[in-house]
Amino acid sequence: MDRLLIRGARILDPSGTMDETGDILITNGAITAVGGKISCEDAEVIDARGLAAAPGLVDMHVHLRDPGFTEKEDILTGCRAAAAGGVTSLLCMPNTNPAVDTPETVRDILEKARTADARVYVAAAITKGLKSEELNDLAALKEAGAIALSDDGRPVVNTLLMANALRLAAELKMRVVSHCEDLFLSQGGKINEGAVSERLGVKGVPAAAEDCGTAREIAIAAAYGVPVHICHVSTKTSVALIRDAKRRGVRVTAETAPHYFALTEQELLSRDADYRMSPPLRAEEDRLAVIEGLRDGTIDAIATDHAPHTPAEKADFLAAPNGSVGMETSLAAGITYLVNRQLLTLTQLLSLMSAAPAALLGISAGTLKVGAPADLVLFDSCESWTVDPDRLHGKSRNAVFKGKELTGKVKKTVCGGKIVFDEPNRR
Ligand SMILES: [Zn+2]
Ligand SMILES: [Zn+2]
Repeated sequence: MDRLLIRGARILDPSGTMDETGDILITNGAITAVGGKISCEDAEVIDARGLAAAPGLVDMHVHLRDPGFTEKEDILTGCRAAAAGGVTSLLCMPNTNPAVDTPETVRDILEKARTADARVYVAAAITKGLKSEELNDLAALKEAGAIALSDDGRPVVNTLLMANALRLAAELKMRVVSHCEDLFLSQGGKINEGAVSERLGVKGVPAAAEDCGTAREIAIAAAYGVPVHICHVSTKTSVALIRDAKRRGVRVTAETAPHYFALTEQELLSRDADYRMSPPLRAEEDRLAVIEGLRDGTIDAIATDHAPHTPAEKADFLAAPNGSVGMETSLAAGITYLVNRQLLTLTQLLSLMSAAPAALLGISAGTLKVGAPADLVLFDSCESWTVDPDRLHGKSRNAVFKGKELTGKVKKTVCGGKIVFDEPNRR
């Protein structure tokens, strides 16, 4: 019998209403008792006094870069970064090389992930080679183990293809997570179109590029009564469109990322490509609208859009590819910018980062209930630290919160009953 006893933690379970100090017993990879004082003779004991214990985070938007771009990240290093951030389940995006558009590639990823420090779920590509020309065999991708569909990195440009994909995916019960962007409007843009792009003399990406995509997905979902999930919401108009659609009963859900509720285009004044991602950091009014969306339930989940690139690729401000890494800082960013500013409670934040995305993906995660897989994060909600990119656990260094002082430090992560991250032992 393999037993782990977590002693004296503040147990926070956003899947219920639990917020109390007590013990958690894990037996053979599952939670077997929660709360109160638990005695067990033969268990390995973790003294968690002073720490919070919550379900392992579920990050529904991650780029593991494997296959094809393993100089940036691979499945094992990406999952090491996940573990260091308290993420125990993640959904990886298909814009790899080759793209995740065949059952073989789906199976390869799942096979490689078997020994990883986090549970990997696969979003397969909607179209062949992410080219928006031909639908993949979605049923075969599901059969191979993919649970979601996306052409992330790009939108599905052809609206008819997207409509067909959404209808087929609904039948297959696969979630479609859509990168919303009108490529004609965004073409050549490097950062948000606005005050900062004008000041720097850099071509901008208008908020309308995202909003046209969001509006289109909502229109399709409304017309056919099918679900759609909007990725990385960053603009006030997209928040408003989603809020309105939800009120009308459209089956739309949405996520945002920590950088959109924490930072703005002002960061770009540094001309540092680590602050460049797609969609770009927006204006203060957008940031505030994203927070309002999180507060009123318009936005359902927080995901990171963890997007590793090498320092060499990120060296040139304008030529660098889009994206930043975020799994090791997401919980702390949420605590720092939302909980400590009294915008959300800690339980609400944890729900947005675990129970809610688990429900969206239909996976067994995001709960500390007895019988659930023993996926947990132990963290100090009060400890402050400064983000040092050289101490991150993934391969890349392009951290959008680098140099920022954040509050909330992951101490231990348990996945399937196994300790996959232990702070004092980090490299
Ligand atoms: Zn995207
Ligand atoms: Zn992405």
